[in-house]
Amino acid sequence: VNSSSKPDISRAKSAELYEKSKTFFPGGVNSPVRAFKSVYGTPLFIQKGDGCFIWDADGNQFIDFCASWGPLILGHNNSKIREKVIDVMQNGMSFGAPTALENELAELIIKHNKYVEKIRFTSSGTEAVMSAIRLARGYTKRDKIIKFEGCYHGHSDSLLVKAGSGLVTFGETSSAGVPKSFAEETIVIALHDKAAITQAFQQFKDQIAAVIIEGIPANNGLLIQDQDYIEFLRAACTENGALLIFDEVITGFRVGLEGAAAYYGIKPDILTYGKIIGGGLPVGMYGSSAEIMGHISPDGGVYQAGTLSGNPVAMAAGIATLTELTKSGFYKDLNAKTLEFAESIQRFATARNYKFKVFSVGSIFWFAFTEAEKIQTAEAIDASSMEKFKIMHRELLNRGIYLGPSGYEVGFVSAAHTKVELEKAKRAIFDALDLVFK
Ligand code: PLP
Repeated sequence: VNSSSKPDISRAKSAELYEKSKTFFPGGVNSPVRAFKSVYGTPLFIQKGDGCFIWDADGNQFIDFCASWGPLILGHNNSKIREKVIDVMQNGMSFGAPTALENELAELIIKHNKYVEKIRFTSSGTEAVMSAIRLARGYTKRDKIIKFEGCYHGHSDSLLVKAGSGLVTFGETSSAGVPKSFAEETIVIALHDKAAITQAFQQFKDQIAAVIIEGIPANNGLLIQDQDYIEFLRAACTENGALLIFDEVITGFRVGLEGAAAYYGIKPDILTYGKIIGGGLPVGMYGSSAEIMGHISPDGGVYQAGTLSGNPVAMAAGIATLTELTKSGFYKDLNAKTLEFAESIQRFATARNYKFKVFSVGSIFWFAFTEAEKIQTAEAIDASSMEKFKIMHRELLNRGIYLGPSGYEVGFVSAAHTKVELEKAKRAIFDALDLVFK
């Protein structure tokens, strides 16, 4: 039923492409959330992007806040990235041997990020995190890890684990095909719960290799943690001889040059990055002190490799991106723009007594249908509120605004969103909210 005040956009071409893609790919997609299972209609097939805009196969234009799930902090088809990539491609695309471009991107990262002395490039965030876990296990000679309910770290076996029934339990696999014995090495606990951390370290004394947390959890809503909780985690790891891993695949170069580590002023032992450092091409990275990274092969005994790791074309996109981000005032402008956007939507919703909150940090925002002032655990998210998101998503698409197709996903503002588009987006969001709450 469409109670929208606007007609639904035409999706005829997207629907046709989707029918075809379903014959090739499970669910018609190459990554599950793209399938639009949590929102109305069939997935939109995107034809092109430019600045803050994308266009689908039917020619509909949208202001995009998905940003390819985070990498596109400079917007789509940024000319500096494009030119650098084309320039590098003139010399070939992959050699399986070192290139100067790897040094160049590494230098940009390490020079601007005091938390890493040495790094290793991978081709995805999943690989980066999987390797970081292996490094922590190899370094500490311990097997178990602690992760948090509500944090996503990619799709490797140790991390596709959800909380069991107790306060501190072995995890249960959250995907078919993950051996139970793997899940038993992962302890899953709730965020924002110091007692659970203490208990886990007592219960599994001298067995915990690492605690992994998203620098600022942003995969299951935006669950901004308190400073003292993160400090507590840091101290608990140090006391118990476990490494603290900050997964900054989203927050790295997003909330500032030094990511969530600098946001909290906390020094993690290992950091993982992805998304932005590849400027829209496949790049991940993990990094640590020179001492800990000395355990990675060929220097050390922890094996990790990749045919396309440090791919020159991907490095070029990363270099062009980071060159822009390291210019003075970049984050100040982007973050101020996002805060103004978030606050004016909040003012609108509050004035009308809508049960709606905009949570934001840096240039990340999350729309939550709640009255709560803070949401810091996965459990605190009301699943039934996702029905409201569904309506909002449809209304926004009909008004030319593209959000990721799930209410658990955050949105991203890019440097390419100008005041004009943000004002247009706000008006569409106000209309959508009026319809959701009418
Ligand atoms: N870690 C975090 C925090 C992420 O948000 C993601 C992806 O969204 C990953 C890891 C996995 O990265 P990728 O999708 O590049 O494998």
